[in-house]
Amino acid sequence: MSFFQKLKTAVTTPIGGQKIKPGDLSSVPGASSKPVPKANTVVSGAGGAPTIPASSVVDALSDGVMALDRFGNIRLVNPAALRLAGFALGSDAVGLNFSSVVSLFDAADNAIPDNDNPIRAALSKNTEYVSRTLKIFNQEQKTRIPISLHVTYSQTDDAIIVVFSDISAEVRESHEQLAFVSTASHEMRTPVAAIEGYLSIVLDPNNATLDARAQDYVTKAHSACTHLGTLLQQLLDTTKLSDHQMTPQFQAVEVGQVVSAIAAHASPLAAGKQQVLSLDSVPISANSQTHVRQLLYAKIDPNFLREIITQLLENAFKYTPEGGRIDVSTVGNEHEVVITVRDTGIGVPQTDLPHIFNKFYRVDNSDTRTQGGSGLGLFIAQQRAEAMGGKLYAESQIGTGSVFYLRFPRISEQQFQEEQNALAMAQSSNPAPTDATVAQVVPPAQPTP
Ligand code: ADP
Repeated sequence: MSFFQKLKTAVTTPIGGQKIKPGDLSSVPGASSKPVPKANTVVSGAGGAPTIPASSVVDALSDGVMALDRFGNIRLVNPAALRLAGFALGSDAVGLNFSSVVSLFDAADNAIPDNDNPIRAALSKNTEYVSRTLKIFNQEQKTRIPISLHVTYSQTDDAIIVVFSDISAEVRESHEQLAFVSTASHEMRTPVAAIEGYLSIVLDPNNATLDARAQDYVTKAHSACTHLGTLLQQLLDTTKLSDHQMTPQFQAVEVGQVVSAIAAHASPLAAGKQQVLSLDSVPISANSQTHVRQLLYAKIDPNFLREIITQLLENAFKYTPEGGRIDVSTVGNEHEVVITVRDTGIGVPQTDLPHIFNKFYRVDNSDTRTQGGSGLGLFIAQQRAEAMGGKLYAESQIGTGSVFYLRFPRISEQQFQEEQNALAMAQSSNPAPTDATVAQVVPPAQPTP
């Protein structure tokens, strides 16, 4: 018998002196009229060993366990669940709605709205849910505790089983690791930038005369240094995103306009390999970007969007042979804006496709080996897309090309106007700093040879 089967047939824990018999929920206020099936309430000992009441097992678990009826009312709860929720152990939680005991927050400490609540979703749609990124509000300590949450629907009992455990120690450890990687990358970026600067000076014929061999070595050292600088920046970005130090700065924008500007900026890169870059099927160059298109609005972080599209375009240029084609398009349906970056490049094997968004994953073949890269670009792009409530995924055919899709919720023109008006109001009541208060931007110092 599985843990859940044992659990489902267990008696409720004694709370506030009230003990409910197995299969008898009639005394529980608000409990479903459908009784929990009457079954064995003991965990049988093998070979005639003494039996242990299942309720004792549930009570002894360090994981919080709750069983809810169709209406979200608590039919069973163990002490660990009440401890995590900071609900006085002596009080009677059975019969209460789960929402008065369990308040969930996301990793960035935002309250989970009712329509996104996974327990609520399981109640209405019988969906299963597993997460390690939520927090539970502890009513006693007034703190939010990171939890792993597992919500399942039991068809047999028409009940929702919620299991959660405290993962504070794990989260603290991962936070320390992220802080270490972040500090190390930050500290290493400065000397690497200095080395790169010195190598650029050496490569400049106005500063130094190199024979062909030395020129070759210094060029390779310079390129390795640039790669290292990019890698350190990517590590810094990924740790900041994972640690919620970098959160999206949402702004209502007309998406097509932002995408046009990004593509126009990237177009010189296409020229390097005689590739054609087109926007909504119209070939673009840095100077021509006017074409008729649908106006599509969304609330996103324009910097995150720029980083994502730039990454997809850089990959498309990199993994598409000379003379190939890259097409960027922005379309919308009723609810979503969909940006696609399509190329006629080498494609990704089907076996690798599910992994290319993983940290440090690179397809291992001769085509990719000849291209520099860290395997972090798509990971960061997907992190950014998800932080904005969007989705980033790919389809690909080896030898034919790849399509990357970025989708996020669309807002109406009216919502866009309202956001713009709210922004204008906020800016007028909180004016931009005057020249006197603006910090001087000092250009980065050139290393002296
Ligand atoms: P990298 O720095 O290696 O390019 P990414 O995270 O950007 O790292 O991409 C991961 C891997 O996915 C790449 O190494 C490459 O194998 C594959 N890939 C990404 N984009 C494309 C593309 N447009 N065409 C073919 N393969 C791609």
